[in-house]
Amino acid sequence: MSELTRRTAADLAQLLSSGEVSAVEVTQAHLDRITEVDAGVHSFLHVATESALADAAAVDAARAAGEDLGPLAGVPIAVKDVMTTQGLPTTAGSKMLEGWVPPYDATVVRKLREGRLVMLGKTNMDEFAMGSSTEHSAYGPTRNPWDLNRIPGGSGGGSAAALAAFEAPLATGTDTGGSIRQPASVTGTVGVKPTYGAVSRYGLIAMASSLDQGGPCARTVLDAALLHEVMAGPDPLDSTSLTGGYPDVVAAARAGAKDGIAGLKIGVIRELHGGEGGYQAGVLARFDESLALLTKAGAEIVEVSCPSFTAALPAYYLIMPSEASSNLAKFDAMRYGLRVGPQGVEGPSAEQVMAATRAAGFGDEVKRRIILGTYALSSGYYDAYYGSAQKVRTLIQRDFAAAFAQADVLVSPTAPTTAFPLGAKLDDPLSMYLQDVATIPANLAGIPGMSLPSGLADEDGLPAGIQLLAPAQADDRLYRVGAALESLLVESWGGQILDKAPVLDAKTLEAIR
Ligand code: GLN
Repeated sequence: MSELTRRTAADLAQLLSSGEVSAVEVTQAHLDRITEVDAGVHSFLHVATESALADAAAVDAARAAGEDLGPLAGVPIAVKDVMTTQGLPTTAGSKMLEGWVPPYDATVVRKLREGRLVMLGKTNMDEFAMGSSTEHSAYGPTRNPWDLNRIPGGSGGGSAAALAAFEAPLATGTDTGGSIRQPASVTGTVGVKPTYGAVSRYGLIAMASSLDQGGPCARTVLDAALLHEVMAGPDPLDSTSLTGGYPDVVAAARAGAKDGIAGLKIGVIRELHGGEGGYQAGVLARFDESLALLTKAGAEIVEVSCPSFTAALPAYYLIMPSEASSNLAKFDAMRYGLRVGPQGVEGPSAEQVMAATRAAGFGDEVKRRIILGTYALSSGYYDAYYGSAQKVRTLIQRDFAAAFAQADVLVSPTAPTTAFPLGAKLDDPLSMYLQDVATIPANLAGIPGMSLPSGLADEDGLPAGIQLLAPAQADDRLYRVGAALESLLVESWGGQILDKAPVLDAKTLEAIR
């Protein structure tokens, strides 16, 4: 493995701008790493070798010509396959979109291109972002680089695994109920769901529009901030895009690592701390140690209560499928994507083609949610289910408002467990859904959340995550506290957490193929 692939994005940016390395060298090092490990890890659905090298060469030429380039120009990035990329295949992990090459870029992707980041390829994900393990991808699962027999989290398992396997220094994600934060938690990486509306949803293949939010995935808090800054911003193409109030997250990350967090109030959410949540003992132990470090750094820890959080998961599993069932109605075999003729029918009707296509194109989890959502929205049930769930959403927002009156930032474990074995929860959707018990409230309230590694949490030496939550449009607080905690933890471990991950050698990889 080239030493360049171990570097943070901030380091690479520095090496690139000082001319010590070229963008082509950095890109080639990551492409080589992908060649070395991805047949085993399967982070990528598509590797864009040619266009990545061409983009990198263009950055080098622009730099040589003295052009003023963005802070991450020439740094490679992996893009979740839910984001449309002009000229590169985009499937959202579904058979429905197999072979589709979008004619346009998502706004986020346009911003990456304008910032001259080099897109390495598209990362694997649960179909249409539904899942917590990446096992619902129509193209086979991604494996966790910490243990190839375990899941990398989901839905953005491909992006998280690409970071943890040193295939990319940065990646993008989307988070509807935890799909950025939970994969970060189980792979020992950093993931941020920004305030709803801070990152444009234009060109993000929709799951549940009132919850979906794009965000950065990285190996350090500063790297996540640098990428956050590129991704976020107002967008006339997204009617829910925020028109203002974008805090300086990079400055916050730098300040947190330097001046720390003395005097800040940190609220521990009682309902997300043990109890019935099925939290693994090691996950809670690492969480409590992180709190002790924060206290030592001068933060004040208070306990807050958010009683409606016990209804967050059920409310999410009504609102999300309701919106998803509407959003996925467009896959009708007529406009784009898959079209399957019904077997043995002469001159089939449009309805018959639609039915055959949707039966063949969607996987089981997607069908489950379409059925659930269609049922919840049907007349006679709408008020009882969808209406009640929307009321819960208001209660959760009120709980957060009350909690933020007592604390600057709230904390909880990110996911209740470390990475579980592949297949362990596939036959039990409810236990899979419980992975997001701590992450879903932020989506229902539209507030920002971050997951960063809290330590190794079980006898198998697997990582766990701590979640930080801040009020809407106060994303900077996550970065200030996250950077402070990260520097304390890294000091206590004597290095980055991924330095403790087993090396992916040829033998382990061979055994998986
Ligand atoms: N795991 C959650 C779900 O399956 C969240 C998914 C997401 O955030 N896209 O719905």
